[in-house]
Amino acid sequence: MRIVLVGPPGAGKGTQAAYLAKNLSIPHISTGDLFRANISQGTPLGKQAQEYMNAGELVPDEVTIGMAKERLEKPDAADGFLLDGFPRNLAQAEALDEILVEKGIALDGVLDLEVPEAEVVKRIAGRRTCRSDSAHTFHVEYKKPRVEGVCDECGGELYQRGDDSEETVRKRLEVYHRETEPIIDYYKAQGLVVTISALGKVAEVTQRAMEALRQKAA
Ligand code: AMP
Repeated sequence: MRIVLVGPPGAGKGTQAAYLAKNLSIPHISTGDLFRANISQGTPLGKQAQEYMNAGELVPDEVTIGMAKERLEKPDAADGFLLDGFPRNLAQAEALDEILVEKGIALDGVLDLEVPEAEVVKRIAGRRTCRSDSAHTFHVEYKKPRVEGVCDECGGELYQRGDDSEETVRKRLEVYHRETEPIIDYYKAQGLVVTISALGKVAEVTQRAMEALRQKAA
């Protein structure tokens, strides 16, 4: 399956993407993760991306689209993928369509995760992420790790992402409404969108998402 995941910051995209990709045996491609990997390796691309990320802004399209295209060329993406955080604006959605047309393939669905705005700010400002695996996330109130600062799953160090402060979250939400939401209508016009609520336990949301994707593919 070829799926795009959309939703505001804090909807649980990264967490859901990891489970869905595993269930569907397709690679989880997160442009945010690719940028973070570049930043921790100190690459020129990482240096370019960092200031935009810390400000809650989108990294420019020419950098992002090239990086996403390169990732989609890798052999593991030949039979399907789950895109998380890309596309994030109309120009990127159009660029993705071009990439897919060139390959003679098409998306199967766009999964839209819905969550109320007040919940988003609470979720993100208290979020702690594992340095070793960004799918391992905790929360200072709702999901405390057994040992403070240590990931329950792999022992990695927990930290607050530079772009998870309350101020940056508000900026990221504004960017989401302005830049990313329009792609939902773009994909609705192609009949691709399924919307589900992202509220509830992680496993419940995964179940809901799997069911919605199954119906979409049927
Ligand atoms: P995420 O991990 O998806 O929340 O992304 C974290 C940050 O990385 C975003 O706030 C942007 O600064 C940057 N980023 C990730 N994906 C994209 C994209 N498709 N286009 C532009 N910037 C992106």
